[in-house]
Amino acid sequence: MKISTNKLSHLQPEQLNAWATEAINRSKSGQIPAYIPLLAQADRQVFAVQIRAIDGQILSWGSTAQTFPLMSVVKPFVLLYLLCTLGEKAVFDCVGCDPSEMPFNSLTQLEIDQGKPRNPMLNSGAIALASLLPGKNAVERCQNLQTWLNQQVNSQLFVDELMLDSVNAMPNQNNWDLALEMVQSGYLQNSAIALETYNRLCCLSGTVDDLAKLGMVLVNGGEAIAEHCRTVKALMATCGLYEASARLALRVGIPAKSGVSGAMLSVIPGEGAIVSYSPPLNKEGNSVGGLFLLEQISKALRLSVFD
Ligand code: GLN
Repeated sequence: MKISTNKLSHLQPEQLNAWATEAINRSKSGQIPAYIPLLAQADRQVFAVQIRAIDGQILSWGSTAQTFPLMSVVKPFVLLYLLCTLGEKAVFDCVGCDPSEMPFNSLTQLEIDQGKPRNPMLNSGAIALASLLPGKNAVERCQNLQTWLNQQVNSQLFVDELMLDSVNAMPNQNNWDLALEMVQSGYLQNSAIALETYNRLCCLSGTVDDLAKLGMVLVNGGEAIAEHCRTVKALMATCGLYEASARLALRVGIPAKSGVSGAMLSVIPGEGAIVSYSPPLNKEGNSVGGLFLLEQISKALRLSVFD
């Protein structure tokens, strides 16, 4: 029998079962955010994970049929799409590429930076990038990204309209303030359409299987987009978990992106992708259970990119 050199495919189901069970236990210390009413109703105990190795092996555990909104996990894909369609200059004229020590929705950070979003993984950065998407309105812009992504890997991402209604039911003043600051500084033209697009993008939803397939684009998307995938992975590693990113580089050493829904995507160059969904968050807005699981897998299989 040929033994795979793919470290990620050596993970045993029993081991995953033990860690996932412990991750659910640890997630009890986390909080479910209240500012999106429908998200606040999420089941605290729900847990789903999929691990996809580059050699084709797939290991899944938990509520794998459960769909969830990507929220901020959509940000790396907005970035990738725009890098592929508009190129690096257009993207980085609009957003920076430096990490931030401030929270994902910090207006202070944007003010310090004179209205230029510090990086594409922050709300400010994603709102600015939403305004670059092709399409005459928010529906078309989001549809263009959705179609492009689904065509890449045969995933089934869809806009969760009920979630979007819930997002719109409680207008997010903080995101409005970010958009207005960017309009004033000239980094954004139309704040209303940018925010409407951003909110729709955040409500793109799917299962751990959909998200893991998409994560594999970043791992082995092919020569034509390899350079852009490298850029996205580097920004996930430095900025993906917000102010916890540097700490996670030491403890875990894997590019990752979290979302306020409790979704988390991790991509291991040359190895594969790990996707988890577990709603309770820590104070930085990252999934408690997802982080725990990722750390265990990374340590046991020596997956840190710095190993
Ligand atoms: N829609 C969310 C917001 O703007 C997404 C942020 C996140 O997932 N961290 O607050």
